[in-house]
Amino acid sequence: MTYSEAEEILRKHNIKPSLLRYKLINYLSQHYTHPTIDTIYRELKPEIPTLSKTSIYNNLYLFVEKNLVQILKIDEKEIRFDYDTTPHIHFKCEKCGKIYDIHTNIEFHDIKQLDGFTVNQTILFMKGVCAKCNEKEKKN
Ligand SMILES: [Zn+2]
Ligand SMILES: [Zn+2]
Repeated sequence: MTYSEAEEILRKHNIKPSLLRYKLINYLSQHYTHPTIDTIYRELKPEIPTLSKTSIYNNLYLFVEKNLVQILKIDEKEIRFDYDTTPHIHFKCEKCGKIYDIHTNIEFHDIKQLDGFTVNQTILFMKGVCAKCNEKEKKN
């Protein structure tokens, strides 16, 4: 992503562009791995020596507030960020710790019990063992 592309995206979401904000969305748009603040800090620190975890935290929460990024709260300690804001299911593998994006065409608003409700956000979270880990288990 170029700086001007990022600038346009930020402006569209009513966020004032800055170099750090550019670096953050550039990183997130290239890593759909649901990184934590610690991971982003480790990855960007060599490029931005003045970087602090607080500034990453503040900017990411602003992105979430402006619907540019989705937040994933797995538990109190594990907070991750996702540049894909479309409704999708997250599956966390209890063996390898990887978080998978599961895209489905299930239309949740078709659910009968939701008649008359307004849904603003859909959070779907699954836990288990991924296909790769199950495959490994079989071989052993
Ligand atoms: Zn796994
Ligand atoms: Zn995701």
